[in-house]
Amino acid sequence: MPLQTTLILFKPDAISKGLCGAALTRFEAAGLKIRGLRMLKFEDALLREHYAHIAAKPFFPEVARFMQSTPIIALALRGPNAVQKVRDLLGPTDSTKAAKGTIRGDLGKDVMANVCHASDSVEAAATEVQRFFPEDALFDY
Ligand code: ADP
Repeated sequence: MPLQTTLILFKPDAISKGLCGAALTRFEAAGLKIRGLRMLKFEDALLREHYAHIAAKPFFPEVARFMQSTPIIALALRGPNAVQKVRDLLGPTDSTKAAKGTIRGDLGKDVMANVCHASDSVEAAATEVQRFFPEDALFDY
């Protein structure tokens, strides 16, 4: 299986409810390694770039407000097949439709408060990891 690095963002629901550790434990238990981690304010320009694919959706202003309601935590995780593995661990976007045993199914509330963002393809992962981490903030060990 190809070794990949993927981007996770712990969203404001995870930050305010204290769910980051529980989610990270699942990622680490699945064999994924931390390459980078930082807390940041999701500034307008970065948010617009990251969510360009939903910018025209009617729910975008609500997502923007939500994503800026607390700081977020960005995490770069590496492992075999990391992109799909993380998506599988998370479950589908809508937490109410996510199976028990998935992070969103167990810890998420709805379609917006769904604990984490995770890159949805290998191409997106490459772009998104670079968006949040300069090369010297990513570690290999
Ligand atoms: P994912 O985060 O699972 O890759 P998308 O890229 O389709 O999902 O959507 C980006 C984010 O926009 C979602 O994680 C969610 O926070 C929000 N979102 C998507 N659809 C809706 C919706 N119908 N109502 C409110 N928020 C939504």
